[in-house]
Amino acid sequence: MGKVKSTKEKQISAILRLLDSEYGTDDKCYLSYEKPYELLFSTIMSAQCTDERVNMVTAKLYKKYDTLESFADADIKELEKDIHSVGFYHMKAKHIKEAAQMLLREYGGHMPSGIEELTKLPGVGRKTANVVRGHIFNEPSIVVDTHVKRTAFRLGITDEKDPVKVEFDLMKKLPKDHWTLINLQLIRLGREICRSQKPKCDSCFLAGVCSKRSL
Ligand code: SF4
Repeated sequence: MGKVKSTKEKQISAILRLLDSEYGTDDKCYLSYEKPYELLFSTIMSAQCTDERVNMVTAKLYKKYDTLESFADADIKELEKDIHSVGFYHMKAKHIKEAAQMLLREYGGHMPSGIEELTKLPGVGRKTANVVRGHIFNEPSIVVDTHVKRTAFRLGITDEKDPVKVEFDLMKKLPKDHWTLINLQLIRLGREICRSQKPKCDSCFLAGVCSKRSL
């Protein structure tokens, strides 16, 4: 006989079923890229910026700088100008150039797959590393950004508030086939319905299974 599910486990299963039927189970990445390092740089640029804006910038950027070497050798002022509209461009340009140099110097131009190695790259925290692991290496990973943190807490999936603790707690509570997917689903939920200010609980498809806790 299988293990009897606790009330919390039943609630989480119901949430996942509703998320799957509303948003689907395609774990596509919203950032456009062709090469692994392009996803890394796009994710660095996406901090405090929309994916749409990043995609607009990278449509030109990845044609102008079409190799890792061209980023490593880039004139920093010119690179800053090229990515100006994504915001925080001084820091982001510096991180992209230095990450390109480190990838060439220490990994022969290849992307490492381990979280330890990835988080040693300039400008790469657990969130960016997990985006790369999930989409490039198909390593199930849970990316916790502000939307995931807020909606997972409100829904009652986690009691944690610190992003790293949320990540580990979700890994314990969610089936592996939802690790990469949950990020895409909760980001959409957070952007469209469960916004930071005035969540639309009255019209939310999750209202019947949500703990509706305020964060
Ligand atoms: S019911 Fe309200 S709190 Fe719960 S997920 Fe929907 S909008 Fe967010």
